[in-house]
Amino acid sequence: MPQPQNIVGVVFDYDKTLSPSYMQEDAIFKRFGIEPKPFWGRTNALVADHLYESELAWMYQLLDHPEVAKLSNAELRAMGQDLKFYPGLPDALPQMRALLDNTKYREFGVQLEYYVVTSGLKELVKGSPLTPHLKAVFGCEFDERDGRLWRPKRCVSHTAKTQMLFRISKNLISMSEDVNVHMPHEQIRIPFWNMVYVGDGPTDVPCFAVVKNYGGKTIAVYDPSDDRAYQKCYELTVNEKRVDMAAEANYAPKSHLRRTLDRMILEIADKIVDSRR
Ligand SMILES: [Mg+2]
Repeated sequence: MPQPQNIVGVVFDYDKTLSPSYMQEDAIFKRFGIEPKPFWGRTNALVADHLYESELAWMYQLLDHPEVAKLSNAELRAMGQDLKFYPGLPDALPQMRALLDNTKYREFGVQLEYYVVTSGLKELVKGSPLTPHLKAVFGCEFDERDGRLWRPKRCVSHTAKTQMLFRISKNLISMSEDVNVHMPHEQIRIPFWNMVYVGDGPTDVPCFAVVKNYGGKTIAVYDPSDDRAYQKCYELTVNEKRVDMAAEANYAPKSHLRRTLDRMILEIADKIVDSRR
């Protein structure tokens, strides 16, 4: 079915993009007294010495912890309430959506949708205060047996994140659908040029590249207290030209990031209106 292509899609990475911390630390480590340093040390050793995929390495590390292994996916989801965000979230999400709440955009049904594509745990984001505002969340998942987390079921590595962008673009949100199916252009729900991707660094480079190469907009954000994070964003923007804009991770109104996001959303929405007319 031909699509009206009147949706602005804003896609966020999660860790260090929406939150100053890693989601496992906010939601799981604090509750069970897991020390982050040795946990990530063991994870990195599996990656370096045994060539594990890094997402599989931390997922197995979590299952090795007896308290975590007792959890169900529903309990994991409930722990998403403990996630901490950068300033301005989650209020920024409805505030930005309100930008399109006027007759000019309503006439053509222009809408804003938010997605999260993370290499962290999908269930934690699904249980967080962000979730009422999100159209879909993609991330790593555990299978469950007898009501307990059992083994990794889905691993969304940095390059697998680009697959999720195509899923969003083609509206193939369910994993039961083949993302590689050929789709004529008019059936694409959110063309990449109607998309904004917000990430925090080198792990988002494949997604930045896909969105930017197809005419979408890209923003790299950094934690202002982290000099190295700023340096990464500077490289991505100024020297490598892989992203359109770098901004401090602050989603409050009138911050550099909010001004940039607002501007990009309105620019895409205006283009949709022009092409409809
Ligand atoms: Mg990140």
